[in-house]
Amino acid sequence: MDNQKYEPMTSQQVCEEFEHAIKEKQFVAYFQPQYNHSTGMMIGAEALARWIHPERGLISPGIFIPAIEESKQIVELDFYIFEYTCAFIQKCMRDNLHIIPISSNFSRYDIFQDRFVEKLEQIRNRYGVPSKYLRVELTESVAMEREIEVNGIITKLNELGYLVEMDDFGSGFSSLNVLKDISFNIIKIDMKFMSSITQNNRAGIILNSVVRMAQWLGMPIIAEGVETKEQANFLGSIGCDYIQGYLYEKPLPEEILYGMIQDGKLGKFYSEKELIDHLDACTFWTPESLDTLIFSNYVGAAVVFEYNEGKVKITRVNKKYLKELSMNLSEKEVIEGDILDQMDEEDRKKYISTLECAIKSQDEEECETWRNIKSACCGDDRLFIRSSIRMIGKCKKNYLFYAMVRNITAEATRMSSLLKTERQFKVVSEHANIYYWEYTIATKEMRPCFRCIRDLGFPPLVANYPEPVFEWGVFPSDYADMYRDWHKQIANGVKSLEAIIPLTADRVPFFVRYTTEFDETGNPIKAYGSATMVV
Ligand code: C2E
Ligand code: CA
Ligand code: CA
Repeated sequence: MDNQKYEPMTSQQVCEEFEHAIKEKQFVAYFQPQYNHSTGMMIGAEALARWIHPERGLISPGIFIPAIEESKQIVELDFYIFEYTCAFIQKCMRDNLHIIPISSNFSRYDIFQDRFVEKLEQIRNRYGVPSKYLRVELTESVAMEREIEVNGIITKLNELGYLVEMDDFGSGFSSLNVLKDISFNIIKIDMKFMSSITQNNRAGIILNSVVRMAQWLGMPIIAEGVETKEQANFLGSIGCDYIQGYLYEKPLPEEILYGMIQDGKLGKFYSEKELIDHLDACTFWTPESLDTLIFSNYVGAAVVFEYNEGKVKITRVNKKYLKELSMNLSEKEVIEGDILDQMDEEDRKKYISTLECAIKSQDEEECETWRNIKSACCGDDRLFIRSSIRMIGKCKKNYLFYAMVRNITAEATRMSSLLKTERQFKVVSEHANIYYWEYTIATKEMRPCFRCIRDLGFPPLVANYPEPVFEWGVFPSDYADMYRDWHKQIANGVKSLEAIIPLTADRVPFFVRYTTEFDETGNPIKAYGSATMVV
């Protein structure tokens, strides 16, 4: 069988040989698996017709489909491939294998004929395959021709449990309106239509808006013709995880797919690690590349820098980075500055060790450091920056890093003043012989101060307060009813309470006080208790 020996088949030859060939079962379906790129799991497949010609060998649909579409013989082939698919699923069911749903292609001549749905049902029932495993693919051009009828067919199929996919979305006929006017369940976008829109890298922008619109409409998207990891990652980054294409698998003969399912080979995971190895750092520098598009438009504050034996050189920042530092810096100022020079000794060590961790782990690593930043316009300031750092490329001893940053100076300052207050409070209360605690009304939880924990052996969180303090003997039993009643009053909204109570087994007199805290609507939420020794 050698294709080379033959002149290509003419349309006439195809049509003449077709009837005989289909009777002889020369047609088969190849199945191309679809994967969820984020989990690596096989989630479905598409049935694609192949003609195993006794003399010419394997013939692709590109050769014979246009001819038999013209002659309408396609109808016979489509039902044949659908039946082939049902037989395959039946076999998987019989052998108790994991079942993946399989889509079949249908042409305009199929769906607009009388009893299209009934014919499908007849075949499906003959094989006893549940309709949830069978999907119908229609091209968008077919759908647009006779919108109302197509909607009727989709409704009928949906009622019977089939899902309907719009094939080749974006191939030229469609506008985004088709998405909302025709009630398809799933959209398929072919990357080959996308790559034809290369000018100004509009492909990425268009793809992104299609994916977003589909998400608003609650429609899953399958990207077809995905050949590279960069494409797959870009798709993932804009929320499109389902992928069909040579990157994962070519269309496979049924026995190969059967073998994969039988061996449980349902996952094919392109780990992050592998992706880094394949990331082509060069594409990052071309303004038209997808990476550039993502960097400039779709991520938060980010910086790219090279690291070589203790030296860092910033090579690229996005606008959001400048905004995050909020010092009105220009890109030039940032690129000329040295990240490590901005840090004191300890933070510099911390930052470098984070870079080294990121090289080893090939994963995202995080660190927080202070930086002294000079800006021509705003003078000097000290900022506390959280960086999530990842290595994206490597050349000899030169490493390329990508960092997402957040300016957390305000949080850090607030935290440190809080710590300071707490420290001061500790010192004061140590001198004042004061015990204090926080009581949450809704949960009956009590959080004691450090002195209660240290001197009285309280756990950091006391549940079902105040019951345990009677058991522990901190509050004497003759005061139990009164103290229980206080908690009822607090829950009812009393503002404050106070009394002298003899505490512990030694019955030392303490001045015990509660102050209640209310929310905006006036409901009591917490109460703050304190006990001061009466001298
Ligand atoms: P299609 O429905 O858009 O199917 C996808 C085509 O893209 C398949 O070509 C598949 O092999 C190819 N493909 C998948 N991944 C990649 C990739 O990563 N890169 C590239 N370059 N191509 C990829 P195939 O099998 O040659 O089918 C061509 C077309 O023929 C199909 O396009 C479909 O329109 C039609 N066709 C195939 N089988 C049937 C059928 O049973 N009935 C009908 N009505 N049409 C069919
Ligand atoms: Ca298709
Ligand atoms: Ca397609």
